[in-house]
Amino acid sequence: MAFELPALPYGFDDLAPHIGGDTMRVHHGKHHAAYTNNLNAAIAKYPELAEVSIEDLLRGMADLPADIRVTVQNNGGGYANHALFWEIMSPDGGGAPSGELAAAIDAAFGSFDAFKTAFSNAAVSRFGSGWAWLVVDSAGQLAVYSTANQDSPYMSGHTPILGLDVWEHAYYLNYQNRRPDYVAAFWHVVNWQAVAAKFAAA
Ligand code: MN
Repeated sequence: MAFELPALPYGFDDLAPHIGGDTMRVHHGKHHAAYTNNLNAAIAKYPELAEVSIEDLLRGMADLPADIRVTVQNNGGGYANHALFWEIMSPDGGGAPSGELAAAIDAAFGSFDAFKTAFSNAAVSRFGSGWAWLVVDSAGQLAVYSTANQDSPYMSGHTPILGLDVWEHAYYLNYQNRRPDYVAAFWHVVNWQAVAAKFAAA
């Protein structure tokens, strides 16, 4: 059973002006599609992996056959990271979380503003390509950090609930070299209901 490129839960142009339609079309239809196809090509060599979820593939990467391990790291990570990224954005996003997620963020970071500062710093300071994350770690605590390339928090036994792609392909058409402006704009499209649902599931 091959992994499928998930459809966006909104239109390509719906996140504009924060993230433009031209960026979304290429990002979803070319970049995410390529990660999906490359992952499927690697997995196809090992029928015993056909029913394994993407999360379990990434959690168990050390046990994968050596000849596909790096491909799954890069393309399986890319597949999972982008699937989460589309889900945690919305044209109706922005604002602040509520309920248990808001309380957990306050407890972990001191305040929502302090959390936003920590997450934004992780996104801006990641050198080169990568992702900023809000995760539930293996002790059940919220944590913020960044990863390189397409490395996934699942590879560390953590569950990502919010992620921001800081590869240049994610923002260059709109923001060129101004990554901090892209990070600031991201807060206007965060779907906090989706993040809260992932927090509750974790
Ligand atoms: Mn990307």
